[in-house]
Amino acid sequence: MSQSSIPLTQSYAQQLDAQDELTKYREEFYLLPAMYLDGNSLGLMSKRAEKSLQDIMLSWKELGIDGWTTGQHPWFFLPEKLGEMSASLVGAEPEEVIVTGSTTVNLHQLAATFYQPQGKRTKIIATELDFPTDIYALQSQIKLHGLNPDEQLVRIASRDGRLIEEDDIISAMTEEVALVILPTVLYRSGQLLDIERLTKAAHERGILIGFDGCHSVGAIPHYFSKWEVDFAYWCNYKYLNGGPGCVGSLYVNRKHFGRVPGLTGWYSSKKDKQFDMEHTLDVCETAGAYQLGTPNMLSVAPLLGSLEMFQEVPIEKLREKSLKLTRYMMDLMEVELAGMGFTVANPTEDERRGGHVSLEHEEAVRICKALKEGGIIPDFRAPNIIRLAPVAFYTTYSEVWESVQVLKAIMQEKRYEKFENKRGVVA
Ligand SMILES: *Cc1c(COP(=O)(O)O)cnc(C)c1O
Repeated sequence: MSQSSIPLTQSYAQQLDAQDELTKYREEFYLLPAMYLDGNSLGLMSKRAEKSLQDIMLSWKELGIDGWTTGQHPWFFLPEKLGEMSASLVGAEPEEVIVTGSTTVNLHQLAATFYQPQGKRTKIIATELDFPTDIYALQSQIKLHGLNPDEQLVRIASRDGRLIEEDDIISAMTEEVALVILPTVLYRSGQLLDIERLTKAAHERGILIGFDGCHSVGAIPHYFSKWEVDFAYWCNYKYLNGGPGCVGSLYVNRKHFGRVPGLTGWYSSKKDKQFDMEHTLDVCETAGAYQLGTPNMLSVAPLLGSLEMFQEVPIEKLREKSLKLTRYMMDLMEVELAGMGFTVANPTEDERRGGHVSLEHEEAVRICKALKEGGIIPDFRAPNIIRLAPVAFYTTYSEVWESVQVLKAIMQEKRYEKFENKRGVVA
């Protein structure tokens, strides 16, 4: 049954750690007493993120209002600077990325801009496995046009409840479709969609296409400009380790520069014109136009330090390690957890797999509680998924090995049975 014949020993894990070039980055993070496999929900704090937050606080303390334009990191230009620093992560030009808003707000902004129902082209394609906020936002955008979301929002069905087939999405791209918005990686099963193929298919049919990159940016390389993706948005608190509620990001392809965003505010203005305080908006001709108002500086600040590390290590390298970690985890599980009722829900091929392993089990809620008791932080997604995300910057192969051992012991000793079968408020 096992296609892998990797050694199951702890010493093999230690050997992999010894060969790992990225181990020095582990010391850059504040590790928890427990083993952290939840970096796809909230990345750990790094020392550099802490330092850059302190730097911004210090500039407020010492400069007051002048912090906007003076000091080490003038606040007024930080969203653009951070956009520039993020550009290589998504394969964009520096001016195509801006740090602003939040995932949900940015989706509203981009849908308000790029969803322009006309004639019989009125529909939006999404999927039935989308993160709820994406669906809610699209429903409200459709309503704002006086249309009925039940008719206009097409949610592509999954054939098996886990994956979405690209073929099914492409078949739904009819002449009634105005816009396609898809996740890069599905948040539950961790499936990575073929962004390039889907973008090409949409454009061949005269449809605009955008992506939610929450579960891939910082873990997987993207080539948005080359693929001509129209727009994308993502959060910076997952794989990018920007801290809870960190300000989000968006990308707009340069071919759309000069367009007036659906939602505008004084930060949509050309930067040198913004303080002219005119009532006629002179729209900025970069992704910066999609900003609304004053940036949440303290929620932007940690990104400065965090992105520095992403500049030192190319995203392709992080992806390579991430794939090795998840492959190793799956290989161990295949042997160690055989016959225990688990199903690996993520695609196993490298080209279709995101940054986390998605395990299904009917006792998933209780198993997650037992994992926490056993010193491992996983995350649970209703109704039956345990997500385990080893993160390239700070997870070791030894931790992956140990987490599988703990999971095995939990199952053998039925340690999950003492917990209540009910998820927490934040699961
Ligand atoms: C995490 C996540 C969000 C969260 O959106 P916020 O506006 O930051 O709360 C949205 N969509 C997806 C796919 C996510 O994974």
